[in-house]
Amino acid sequence: RTAPSSFLIQPDESTKIKKIIGIVSGKGGVGKSLITSLLASEMAKKGYKVGILDADITGPSIPKYFGIHEKAYANNEGKIIPQVAENGVKIISVNLILENEEDPVIWRGPIIAGVVKQFYQDVIWDELDYLFIDMPPGTGDVPLTIFQSLPIDGIVVATAPSDLISMIVKKAVKMATMMNVDVIGAVENMSYLKCPDCGKEIAVFGESKIEEIAKNEKIDTFSRIPIDPEISKATDAGRIFDIKEDYLFDIVDKLEII
Ligand code: ADP
Repeated sequence: RTAPSSFLIQPDESTKIKKIIGIVSGKGGVGKSLITSLLASEMAKKGYKVGILDADITGPSIPKYFGIHEKAYANNEGKIIPQVAENGVKIISVNLILENEEDPVIWRGPIIAGVVKQFYQDVIWDELDYLFIDMPPGTGDVPLTIFQSLPIDGIVVATAPSDLISMIVKKAVKMATMMNVDVIGAVENMSYLKCPDCGKEIAVFGESKIEEIAKNEKIDTFSRIPIDPEISKATDAGRIFDIKEDYLFDIVDKLEII
């Protein structure tokens, strides 16, 4: 890693995390939280111990996707106990500590970065095979601080088929490379719509760019997620783990061998 090790923070002494994977995107709304939730659920289905640290502080959607509405509390020692979803995934998010989950978070960058560090340091994660971090979108101050302070093993890049997004993806990949973090793969969300009658793929947001991006950025693993009414139904119902289709199997396979 290029980040001096003195910058890296240590988790609680009871915590043993094997791999930390960040899910990044150039901008909001491309499906970063969806991809984080699907990857976590797939790994949990395979029997791994999985956690999600929702670092998308100003747009926290992870608890909602897993149907979690109870708060997370601290124990006597001031350590935070994460909530556990129906499929066993441990979750911490700012929405689990806000009094009212509709309240906006009006904190500046350093405070937000501080909360994310606390979610790593002060949460009782116990033993995890994988901790997935739903990163704040973009390449700003907060994601940079997270990259510098947490020992992230690799990132998965969330994209969508638009020119603008592919440009921002390059920035995200460059940032990871500069921080010496491995790019595990890329996922193009809303890649196509499958006609329910003839099965033909319709390029709603333009032709898929993922193959080209992957080639240019030397990313060897990528997956595509279609626009799928089952997905919005499952996220709205707080039952992301009910999605049967394993769209991300390439990335999942790679996560098992890194
Ligand atoms: P981000 O984390 O990048 O801001 P989200 O993962 O929260 O984006 O997705 C935003 C919204 O779009 C969610 O309500 C989700 O249900 C919906 N959505 C995302 N991807 C798909 C898809 N492939 N098919 C249907 N709905 C989707």
